[in-house]
Amino acid sequence: MSNKTLAIIKPDSVGNNVIGEIISHITKAGFKVKAMKLTKLSPEQAGNFYAVHKERPFYQDLVDYMTSGPVVPLSLEKENAVEEFRKLIGATDPTKAEDGTIRKIFGKSIENNAIHGSDSDENACIETTFFFSSCERV
Ligand code: GDP
Repeated sequence: MSNKTLAIIKPDSVGNNVIGEIISHITKAGFKVKAMKLTKLSPEQAGNFYAVHKERPFYQDLVDYMTSGPVVPLSLEKENAVEEFRKLIGATDPTKAEDGTIRKIFGKSIENNAIHGSDSDENACIETTFFFSSCERV
């Protein structure tokens, strides 16, 4: 799985009509789109996806935000995909993200930060299976 990662174009980006611009950044950086869809998460789905943050003070806000509109999950392929994609999106807080990163360009706040990227190969597989049939077959 080290050549695949899972991205989610978050509700703020979909609402701001920048799905295409963000995908353009992703493909120009050499990622191949292996699977993609537009979907709306239920509170239960968003809660499960971010279960690791259950004890954090921002958990409910995060679930509310991720269910506030449609999202676009994508399975992406590139060598060393997880690390390369985290570099491309930048730091969680857009004000701290490097120039040229997707969160710097499109993110509005630490919560409304435009895009998600898996943080490990193991999570990339789990998160891909969350949206698509399996992480091996996408
Ligand atoms: P990521 O791996 O860079 O997405 O960061 P985390 O896994 O730490 O956090 C998951 C998501 O929760 C982030 O992408 C943000 O949308 C949101 N988030 C993280 N930290 C905060 C915070 O301090 N406050 C709020 N409101 N949201 C946060």
